[in-house]
Amino acid sequence: MLQVKNVSKVYHSKKGLDTVALKNIDLEFPAKGMIFILGKSGCGKSTLLHLLGGLDAPSSGEIFYHQKNVTKFSNEEFDKYRNSAIGFVFQDFNLLEDYNVLENVCLALELQGKKDKDRVSSLLKKMGIDELAYRNINELSGGQKQRVAIARALVKNPEVLLADEPTGNLDEASSKQIFEILKEVSQERLVLVVSHDEEAANSYGDRVIRLVDGEVIADTNPNVFLENKDFSFASSKLPFFYAFKMALRSLKVKPLKLVLTILVMAFTLLFLGASLNLFLFDDEAFVLKALKENEETVFDVYKYEGQSKVKLTDDDINHLEMLSGVVGNSVYTFSLGTNNLSFSFEENNRATECFYPVIPEGNYLVEIFDDNLLSNLLGRKPLKNDEVVIHRYTADYILQYGIVDINGEIYQPKTYEELLEDYQAIKFGNTLVYIVGILLDERTLYEESLSSLHFPNENLKQFYASNYASYGKFIYVKDVFYFKNLFYTN
Ligand code: ADP
Repeated sequence: MLQVKNVSKVYHSKKGLDTVALKNIDLEFPAKGMIFILGKSGCGKSTLLHLLGGLDAPSSGEIFYHQKNVTKFSNEEFDKYRNSAIGFVFQDFNLLEDYNVLENVCLALELQGKKDKDRVSSLLKKMGIDELAYRNINELSGGQKQRVAIARALVKNPEVLLADEPTGNLDEASSKQIFEILKEVSQERLVLVVSHDEEAANSYGDRVIRLVDGEVIADTNPNVFLENKDFSFASSKLPFFYAFKMALRSLKVKPLKLVLTILVMAFTLLFLGASLNLFLFDDEAFVLKALKENEETVFDVYKYEGQSKVKLTDDDINHLEMLSGVVGNSVYTFSLGTNNLSFSFEENNRATECFYPVIPEGNYLVEIFDDNLLSNLLGRKPLKNDEVVIHRYTADYILQYGIVDINGEIYQPKTYEELLEDYQAIKFGNTLVYIVGILLDERTLYEESLSSLHFPNENLKQFYASNYASYGKFIYVKDVFYFKNLFYTN
């Protein structure tokens, strides 16, 4: 019902500083259910809510409401959207303090030129505040005020209720009541709750989306209540605060081929060649079990403790490598504001289909340090600095939708072989690269995860669906720092 497609939001300050509040967000929301958006202060939660509520416009990307592009609404459509499709609930209630409960709720309706006494009184009853109807707001407790605010938002019968830290000013008991009310409300409409309350998200959320620095880094149940989806994931069984993420490449273990290949990927933000941060998951047992059962190599793991990333020490890496037999590696991304090095596609918003949930931007650079990495390679490894190997996910995406070439035009080969033989200059940020190889990851399990309910492990299934795709963000190069230089001199 509500879709966010490749949405970014950059705030420009007068001093010329840019704040990237949201970065290439792709999300799809169903018509009902309670969905939490978690993250620490400043990660972009409110910005996302404001964009969804039509209170602000994205810097790029689009938001669709029932397939209509909200970013292209006329003023009239916008007003209608804000006034009748969306209801807001705020942390500080935003009620008219000198008016009574009934007046506050009725006013919302009257602003739309409507009156409906029965609806108002049944709502007050539902919220358990019918006996307070003639009390002034300034005579109510916080919890009662919030129930008035929810009644006020619902009286317009919006399809979506957006709640920005609705319990931020409430004690535990009142918070519980509010979440229970919102849960009830979510049986028949979409309720999006911005919060930092992990416990509540765990108990009440049908789905929990976690933002870090303007990016979605975890999404427990992306297809819950979505129509036309083959499957729906149960919530992660992992302890919630270990919102770690794992992507798999499936190189089968061959007895004589001693070393499994690749990769613990730890996301890294490298500013001016400076710091490298690595993160590690904690739940070794789970990962090892998954590895053993599926003969896969592991990868890409982040650890979040509470809301903070936890740095990976050398000991952690050694320990992980020893346990898993997998060689750790680092991944680099060069970014400064919004000027990422990345591939361009004509319509970035295409990547919403089940098989293509992520846009393969290629903006994580991996230096090939170990030829084992290339054992499933179609084509060859990069011999020059501007040659790259891409993951199969990216190649499939290019065949499906094309990619922007040197002339700014869409280049769309028909087969992997054609893509490699053409040796076409592809736009990568402000520079050009040539695709010389494709990593042919085994993806049977991934495909099964889309179509079958019989996946060996529910968690693994979830990881596949949301993470195989994330390999589109990786490109494998000869010299990572060649790109860094390009980036900073451009
Ligand atoms: P959260 O709700 O997760 O605390 P916000 O969405 O409010 O985060 O903010 C995300 C980032 O955008 C922060 O760095 C914040 O300082 C910045 N930001 C938010 N609103 C504005 C604004 N109007 N002007 C400039 N920067 C803003």
